[in-house]
Amino acid sequence: MNVKKIPSWVQRPDPMSDSLLSIDPPLILNSDEHFMREALRMARKAARLDEVPIGAVIVHQGRVIARAWNQVETLKDATAHAEMLALTQAESALEDWRLADCDLYVTKEPCPMCAGAIVHCRVRRVIYGCPDVKGGAAGGFWNLLQAPNLNHRCEITPGVLGDECVGILKEFFAEARRRKAEGLPHKKGAAIDATSNTPSFDGP
Ligand SMILES: [Zn+2]
Repeated sequence: MNVKKIPSWVQRPDPMSDSLLSIDPPLILNSDEHFMREALRMARKAARLDEVPIGAVIVHQGRVIARAWNQVETLKDATAHAEMLALTQAESALEDWRLADCDLYVTKEPCPMCAGAIVHCRVRRVIYGCPDVKGGAAGGFWNLLQAPNLNHRCEITPGVLGDECVGILKEFFAEARRRKAEGLPHKKGAAIDATSNTPSFDGP
């Protein structure tokens, strides 16, 4: 018989239990990690393409409707951050600019540009991996996602798989420094200037 494999992150209720309440917390936590792993997969794709490795996915009713990685260098477009590209994909998928029932997972805390777009699209929740204390706009430096004067505020969940998310960025910039020290041509994404999405904690 062909039995459909249940993903490991899905916590099934214990049929012997008379209460479902006890399974809720692990289900929520594991779901966040599951979708962040998908965002990390996008970040690794960016790294392979010499882009600063940041990835994002958008989830609607438990289903991924958008996946994107940072493509600033590939598209020669300073606005082509992973979140911006994912928002556009999600709007197309739902044929609506309102993403009110959507959650956005991104490996690094969003910058002010992305945070502004996220608020415009009315994203319900933003889940990020590593913080950006100098340039982050989800509470790291500013908190545009919850600005009281704007007409929408997002829930924020920080630090999901934070070590893995920061690790991939550190590795990228460490390699960029090695190449520079050896006189090799720099990676495209590692040459970006302070106005783009260079992570503030460990830049080139
Ligand atoms: Zn951004």
